[in-house]
Amino acid sequence: MLDLKQELVSRFMRYAAIPSQSDEEITAVPSSQGQRELSSLLARELSELGLADVYVDEHAICYGTLKGNCKGPALGWCAHLDTVDVSLSSSIHPQLIRYTGGDVCLNEEKQIYLKTAEHPELERYRGEEILFSDGTSVLGADNKSAIANIMTMLAVLADNPELKHPEIRVAFVPDEEKGLCGSKLLDLNRFKVDFAYTIDSCELGEVVWETFNAGSGTLKVQGVSAHPMSAKGVLVNPLLVVHDYIAMFDRSQTPECTADKDGYWWFQGGFSDPLNATLSINIRDHDKERYEWRKQVLRDNLELLQRRHPKARLELTLVDVYENIANHVTRDDKPVAMLYQALSELNIKARTYAMRGGTDGSALSAKGLVTPNYFTGAHNFHSYAEFLPLSSFEKSLQVTLKLVELASRD
Ligand SMILES: [Zn+2]
Repeated sequence: MLDLKQELVSRFMRYAAIPSQSDEEITAVPSSQGQRELSSLLARELSELGLADVYVDEHAICYGTLKGNCKGPALGWCAHLDTVDVSLSSSIHPQLIRYTGGDVCLNEEKQIYLKTAEHPELERYRGEEILFSDGTSVLGADNKSAIANIMTMLAVLADNPELKHPEIRVAFVPDEEKGLCGSKLLDLNRFKVDFAYTIDSCELGEVVWETFNAGSGTLKVQGVSAHPMSAKGVLVNPLLVVHDYIAMFDRSQTPECTADKDGYWWFQGGFSDPLNATLSINIRDHDKERYEWRKQVLRDNLELLQRRHPKARLELTLVDVYENIANHVTRDDKPVAMLYQALSELNIKARTYAMRGGTDGSALSAKGLVTPNYFTGAHNFHSYAEFLPLSSFEKSLQVTLKLVELASRD
């Protein structure tokens, strides 16, 4: 019999030992060698566990299939190989500490502490074993706890052939943190499932099946340059054209003025010289119609801008980046309903929230594969303060195993 806690922790430590930070500066996928390394390790382990069709493609996406021994919907799990690039150290040294209350010393030598004054949530886990970073990096529970979770589920099924399960496919993808790059490249012919899950949310009970619809835009402006001594009536300053464009939008609909289910335009960067300017824009909205409306406003305002500056050459490109999972699924549809049922049968209180961002599931949903997301059990993703209580880690695994069981009841 597998000791599940032991299995989760040893797998987590093994995967965390491979630095697989994605690299913002590199456009190739994967953006770092460590992700390739982790992907090959996982491929070897999948083969050892008896999975079929184990395959690593040129983007380091690792695929594997566990043949079913009963009927039921084919289930997929997708997790990301990379850890976030937040200029903290890329090598990760997790430590398992029994938390006895108060501040935690993460690093004696560097005198780094996790303080309950800043992180009162720690106190909820008094007396428990918790995985912490050493204070010099993230912990990487985002998303290596998901990888450990999925691999342990497969190990449990390999170890207990009498357990009923439908076909299960897994995929480990690179560069999620850079804009869902890996899942966008995922080959759905190799990941042929009825629906899938990611395990990429934080604390116990979190369920996410609503994310933003997301798009990005670029406005290019070519003005008319002139020497300032003879510029009157001639010069068209591209920077001021961009300024006029931005001024046409409602200033209350920006990231800094919105929350919950309010969408926004984010004019997030640009470049300008005397002749040319570019402006990059992010568009976000949970509501698909409002999202489309936001794109239309960008186009309509462009027309107004053109009338105002007839000599400027304007070009606006808009690209859809990912989609709200809820565009493709309701709470009562099987992928989501089964997740709530799993939590309910395990007596875990569901904490549903509409994510102001996207997950790999948003990219997969845009490709037509419904992929809700549930908790890893960790706190404080993307920070040195990231920590993972083992009790929540185990509960997350229990949800994974329960989903398999529920699918096999079909
Ligand atoms: Zn993640």
